[in-house]
Amino acid sequence: MKNIMFIAPPAAGKGTQAELVVNKYKIPHISTGDILRKISTEDSEIGNYVYETLASGKLVKDEITYQLIEDRLKQDDCKNGFIIDGFPRNLEQAYEYDRILNKLGYEIGNVILINIDKKKLEKRITGRRICEDCKTIYNINDKFSSPDIDSICDNCGGKLYQRSDDNLEAFQTRYEMYQEKTEPIIDHYKKKNVLVEINGDDSIENIFNEINKIINR
Ligand code: AMP
Repeated sequence: MKNIMFIAPPAAGKGTQAELVVNKYKIPHISTGDILRKISTEDSEIGNYVYETLASGKLVKDEITYQLIEDRLKQDDCKNGFIIDGFPRNLEQAYEYDRILNKLGYEIGNVILINIDKKKLEKRITGRRICEDCKTIYNINDKFSSPDIDSICDNCGGKLYQRSDDNLEAFQTRYEMYQEKTEPIIDHYKKKNVLVEINGDDSIENIFNEINKIINR
């Protein structure tokens, strides 16, 4: 199957959709945010740097992401397609991604842009909760995706936590980063004729249906 890339502002639901795609199509989900969150828990110089940067909402240095991505894409499970989420985040990274794909003999695949306005995102960001164990994502501000009990996972009974960068202040920075740094990559993919836009202000199911149509067209 074709590879998939998601481009979306923070809290647009790309993580949720990526998990749905993973479960249905059994391809790996490569999220630089997830990889970096793991690194941020390490007690080392790089761990501390990543922790501070994530908490501020700014982007980590490009060079850190390149090695992570290349090492991950080299693994065997990526040969039959993968979802890349959170990378590239700026034009430099997009050019580097082209080089990495070329080097590994992969196609870019479908680039899916999830559009949604800022006001809706602000509401979502403060309500997002994630299960510590099975990673299911909930939103306590949205009746369609809230858990039965605010702090407990419906699926596995695990404890729900809030990401340290899911507060309005960090959101503001992340959103500005998205507009300034990430939006310019949209044109890069439009020119390559691989970009498809979908409306992110819809139910999880409807958005997933749109994504399925793109995958199966
Ligand atoms: P995400 O989970 O995609 O929202 O990413 C969370 C945070 O990780 C971002 O706000 C950045 O600080 C960092 N991050 C994720 N991907 C990248 C990337 N490709 N380049 C630089 N920083 C990134």
